[in-house]
Amino acid sequence: MTATYPEDWQKVIEFHGHVCPGLATGYRLAKAALVALGYKDPEEGDLVTIAESDRCTIDPFQIVLGCTIGKGKLYIHSTGKQAFTVGCRQSGKAVRVIQLPYNYSAESNALTKRVMSGRVSDEEYRRYKTAREARIHEILTLPDPELLKVEPVSVVLPEKEPIHDSPCCEFCGEQVMEPWTRRREGKIACIGCAVAVVR
Ligand SMILES: [Zn+2]
Ligand SMILES: [Zn+2]
Repeated sequence: MTATYPEDWQKVIEFHGHVCPGLATGYRLAKAALVALGYKDPEEGDLVTIAESDRCTIDPFQIVLGCTIGKGKLYIHSTGKQAFTVGCRQSGKAVRVIQLPYNYSAESNALTKRVMSGRVSDEEYRRYKTAREARIHEILTLPDPELLKVEPVSVVLPEKEPIHDSPCCEFCGEQVMEPWTRRREGKIACIGCAVAVVR
């Protein structure tokens, strides 16, 4: 099934650990953002993603756009929407991509609930798998306007994270980045030690 899909879709699956409709949606949203910003290679633009969801849809942004948590290029401001703002730190240009409304049928939702509870027959599970695969295929192949919306937005993008000094906590001896240090009895304390009650 994956043979006809682009190579980076495979990378996204490997990173996420399973294939699911949310992952496919995130993949399409991330691609659409990249195109709308006019980039082919995400490294060109020093992109930053502000995610309104922290579920399956978020992971493709880390792979397709290189907006990983560790690089300080992914910020989560949950609103419960499958929406993501992607901006370029160099040009200041930004777009917000969002999935268009889509509802599974009541029957399909009921079947999914039964599968989640583990109480399904083999036949029902096969039906669930087939429907799910069909939906994933649909998400991966629908034209953009039937699946998602892209809107230009003006936002203030988060600043690059500075490098911090890491002094040692004078109570436990562990190193801690400066903004997280506290004061206790006039000494440097980590958060854990700052609130520790002296016995
Ligand atoms: Zn998933
Ligand atoms: Zn400490």
